[in-house]
Amino acid sequence: MQKKIAEAENYLIHSYNRYPVMLDHGEGVYLYDTEGKKYLDFGGGIAVCALGYSDETYKNALKEQIDRGIHFSNYFYSEPLVKAAKGLADASGMDKVFMANSGGEANEGALKLARKYAIMKGHEERHEIVSMDKAFHGRSMGALSVTGTKKYREPFEPMIGGVSFARYNDLDSVKEKITNNTYAVIVEAVQGEGGIYPADREFLQGIRTLCDEHDIMMICDEIQCGMGRTGRMFAYQHYGIQPDIVTMAKGIGNGMTVGAFATTAEIAEALVPGDHGTTFGGNPLAAAAVSVTLDIFAKNNIVQHVAETGVYLGERLEEIVKAKKIARETRGLGLMRGLELTEAAGPYVMKALEKGLILMSAGTNVIRFVPPLVIEKKHVDEMTAVLDKIL
Ligand SMILES: *Cc1c(COP(=O)(O)O)cnc(C)c1O
Repeated sequence: MQKKIAEAENYLIHSYNRYPVMLDHGEGVYLYDTEGKKYLDFGGGIAVCALGYSDETYKNALKEQIDRGIHFSNYFYSEPLVKAAKGLADASGMDKVFMANSGGEANEGALKLARKYAIMKGHEERHEIVSMDKAFHGRSMGALSVTGTKKYREPFEPMIGGVSFARYNDLDSVKEKITNNTYAVIVEAVQGEGGIYPADREFLQGIRTLCDEHDIMMICDEIQCGMGRTGRMFAYQHYGIQPDIVTMAKGIGNGMTVGAFATTAEIAEALVPGDHGTTFGGNPLAAAAVSVTLDIFAKNNIVQHVAETGVYLGERLEEIVKAKKIARETRGLGLMRGLELTEAAGPYVMKALEKGLILMSAGTNVIRFVPPLVIEKKHVDEMTAVLDKIL
């Protein structure tokens, strides 16, 4: 395996510090490397593999779609595309959907839609957007421009103009950043990469009110916290609010590369033919993945399962915080949780890996838990037993 990894490093641009593991296949909520070592997966391919690795209904739907056709262009309709769009619109409480290929692209499209909506309403001058410290919205230039972490942005400046960053969970700081030229506020209901920070109720509701008062778009980035991850279909649904635009990706296709943004019928009017597009977005294979994933969610009550298992995970992590000096606090919702340590999380993630447990970090000091949504309490216990040892 190490020889193959060395070969991979010969040919791959070193844009990631990968774990020294070459994966071979997955079964249930476990992954296996090419030497047969088994890993309990609490990373879920970064909050992607919602159904784990053995859902036969999912796999068969994709195999059937491969036989029918992997790609037709966006100049045609296809049944999987209709089903996926309807499913995502219904799940998010929206009317209309644009299918993209990734989270970053979903956010790019959302920014364009919000800007175009301002123009449609006669506010040509509105070119500013408010984002949050520690926000993560992707790596393409537009999405990166609204990403809060400076070290991701700075090497690539200048970014797109007009972006300001407010403090997360500080409504006054959002208020201060909104000007007469603002067209949108973009926010995660639970910040992911930034370190697993759930929004306070007053904060998210306050942003909703501010956006209404100023007639500007509230964009919720649900790419990580959406699709059942927090024990609701979308995380903003915990807060009793509805954004104007919602972006999604990661879990919505259970591993197929797919992203989307959804909005109301009125706002959707702002995009007309020629304004936005993508070659691959919504291709029948990706769309079939989305629609079968939504079907399985409904049939197996996945969201309810997450709500229950998530509470259990939270309780077990609270126990760890009580027992271990190095564990400072735990935060999160559902099966999206973080454990903040008093020191860097990276070395502990590596120790877990040696013991056959896949974890991820978020920020610098936070261990992130974003397992497949189908994990059971026994898997949580298996995970916390390893965590207990390594901490
Ligand atoms: C991962 C992520 C993105 C970027 O998605 P990609 O598919 O990597 O482009 C954007 N926003 C949030 C909240 C994410 O977690």
